[in-house]
Amino acid sequence: MLDRLPDFIDPIALAERRRVLSGAIRQSEFARLSEVLADSQGDVRIELSFSKEGRLATIQGTIKTTLTLICQSCLQELSWPIDVAVKLGVVSSLEQADRLAAEYEPLLLKTEKVSLRELVEDEILLALPDFPKHEHNCKESGQEQVPMSADNKEQIRSDNPFSVLAKLKSTGD
Ligand SMILES: [Zn+2]
Repeated sequence: MLDRLPDFIDPIALAERRRVLSGAIRQSEFARLSEVLADSQGDVRIELSFSKEGRLATIQGTIKTTLTLICQSCLQELSWPIDVAVKLGVVSSLEQADRLAAEYEPLLLKTEKVSLRELVEDEILLALPDFPKHEHNCKESGQEQVPMSADNKEQIRSDNPFSVLAKLKSTGD
């Protein structure tokens, strides 16, 4: 069973205690994310380890889910797996963020506690493509069917009924 995840977390305190948070949040609970989803039935699975590297509090782990986006090419549903590797360094100022080792993304703490949901949602939104579309050329294959059916009509129209009659006559004889 998955633990119930807290709504708000204190990253510094969790890092001091080397805590691990794992659990799931429903996709529908992410307001901004839900706006771009065709279906928000799934769960977002979260596993985050809080630790310290020297004086720096760090958050590392994964955020996984499968989103149902709208393909921007054919406007059909598009299954989009998300597997984000999280590596955050907790900072309290922009100066600290500048000094952060390149491997960490800064998490700027404005208050002692942060919304876990917003933290996770930000990571997912950053991982989303600007222009999600199917890997195969979904729009082109849709367009190909138009000239194909036009060709079929052309064939029917060009069939000469008299040539059929002529055939029947010659075989009936
Ligand atoms: Zn498509």
